[in-house]
Amino acid sequence: MVTAAYLARAGMRVLVLEARELIGGCAVTEEIWPGYRVSTASYLASLLQEKVVRDLELERFGYRVDAKDPAFFSPFPDGRHLFMWQDRAKTLAEIAKFSQHDAEAYPRYEAHLEKLGMVAESLLLTTPPDFPPHAIGDFIEYLKLAGRLRGLSRAEIVGLVKVFTQSAADFLDDWFESEEIKVTLATDGVIGANGGPRSPGTAYILLHHCMGGVNGIRGLWGFVRGGMGAVSEAIADSARAHGAVIRTQAPVEKILLGNGRAIGVVLADGEEIRAPIVASNLDPRRTFLHLLEETALPADFVAGIRRFRSEGTSLKMNLALRGLPEFAAFPGAPGPQHRATMHLCPSIDYVERAWDDAKYGRPSRYPLIEMTIPTMYDASLAPAGHHIMGIFLQYAPYTLKGSDWDTEREPYAERVIDVIEEYCPNIRDIIVERQTLTPLDLERRFGITGGNIFHGEMSLDQMFVLRPLAGWARYRMPVKGLYLCGSGAHPGGGVMGAPGHNAAREILKDR
Ligand SMILES: Cc1cc2nc3c(=O)[nH]c(=O)nc-3n(C[C@H](O)[C@H](O)[C@H](O)COP(=O)(O)OP(=O)(O)OC[C@H]3O[C@@H](n4cnc5c(N)ncnc54)[C@H](O)[C@@H]3O)c2cc1C
Repeated sequence: MVTAAYLARAGMRVLVLEARELIGGCAVTEEIWPGYRVSTASYLASLLQEKVVRDLELERFGYRVDAKDPAFFSPFPDGRHLFMWQDRAKTLAEIAKFSQHDAEAYPRYEAHLEKLGMVAESLLLTTPPDFPPHAIGDFIEYLKLAGRLRGLSRAEIVGLVKVFTQSAADFLDDWFESEEIKVTLATDGVIGANGGPRSPGTAYILLHHCMGGVNGIRGLWGFVRGGMGAVSEAIADSARAHGAVIRTQAPVEKILLGNGRAIGVVLADGEEIRAPIVASNLDPRRTFLHLLEETALPADFVAGIRRFRSEGTSLKMNLALRGLPEFAAFPGAPGPQHRATMHLCPSIDYVERAWDDAKYGRPSRYPLIEMTIPTMYDASLAPAGHHIMGIFLQYAPYTLKGSDWDTEREPYAERVIDVIEEYCPNIRDIIVERQTLTPLDLERRFGITGGNIFHGEMSLDQMFVLRPLAGWARYRMPVKGLYLCGSGAHPGGGVMGAPGHNAAREILKDR
């Protein structure tokens, strides 16, 4: 949709084809029960690039975000709790409850993360150079990249290398001593990951989640007014205002080829639509293994895409509630805890054990649970006095050993409610409706292979010059006229608009 909006602004005739009855993909608001408008998949905004918001005038088209405050609330089984607020002094006082050392380290940690974030962020809207480099221009691009490191100290460059290679736990061990502080910060490192907090590479995912902001304030996350679908609607309205046409219930079955290049698409009902350029934001496996004949692509490319890892480990539950959860560790409702992302995961070991289950094909018996209540910010999303609660959970591996998700969905949902009940004893009494989206359901509903929320793992070997494959990270694909413009391209997943922005730039260059 972002690609469409940029191309329409540049004067191209653009048609968007969406398989579902509504636009937005993983960023949608769906009225799944009468009166409850639910962000069924993605649920928080931060990563959407300011340049994209500005260029596409998204605020003019209704895009508004309320920054979460407090950002985090973590209740612990021993009855203690931790808040993290927008107000630095309040956060430091909370951290000091657990460790004076950590309270002193936190401002330095934040400054370090911000510095690393700025370097990594400067790459988001950049087209990766060719890899391996072969022409003189490629080497110049690498030199330009190296130039971005000029302002960094030696220690910061070491920090940058570490953040791309370390585990979230090792990264945090360098700064903090308190388990409670470390696990609260480590959650961002494992969201959507195929790994535990001690798996190398998860430190980068932590950084990836810090590369945005709300209303110009870095690192904040917030709720979109009207739910996540309002982001997609704003982008769509921006595209339509410049002439783009958007069709829903138009599943593409095949990319049409002629003389070795893309010349259009065929829809599931047989309709042929001709176009000199086709841009796909389906994930790489779906684009290349479903919409094209293998013989149209180089054999090594097909082999690479087959190896592109895109099995998800995340499960989403959406609840309609007739009240608010009461936390044993922080009684009272409504309270600030309900405005935060509420984490149920008391220690790094707890999350690592949750991952241990998933490694062997079982959903975590004690999962990492992140809960959010968007109706605390936008009451219009549910009937008066009622709430919506989103539960994002790790780990629910796509492939189960000895069973399948159609069998396990409801028993596992019960297990999740049991775990929440240990922290919120009233949870069962207030549930009115429940929707459980396992990785298999995410695949079926949103068309994302393996239910991977990022269209493919965000591990070092599938990022930047290697996303989706080495030599193919510049949005142009092996078939002339075909571009990849979604999360399967650099810089990966999240409601950030960056792959779409970059792909549009390359398409316009080739015009
Ligand atoms: C459960 C979940 C929670 C998440 N939480 C967050 C979050 O809180 N914040 C955040 O920033 N990111 C989050 N993400 C990630 C983020 O939502 C995605 O990275 C992003 O929305 C992907 O956008 P996209 O345009 O690349 O692809 P998608 O949103 O996957 O869009 C692909 C589109 O293609 C359509 N399609 C598929 N097949 C066909 C076909 N054959 N023909 C036509 N159309 C087709 C799909 O219906 C879909 O609309 C989450 C994702 C999930 C699944």
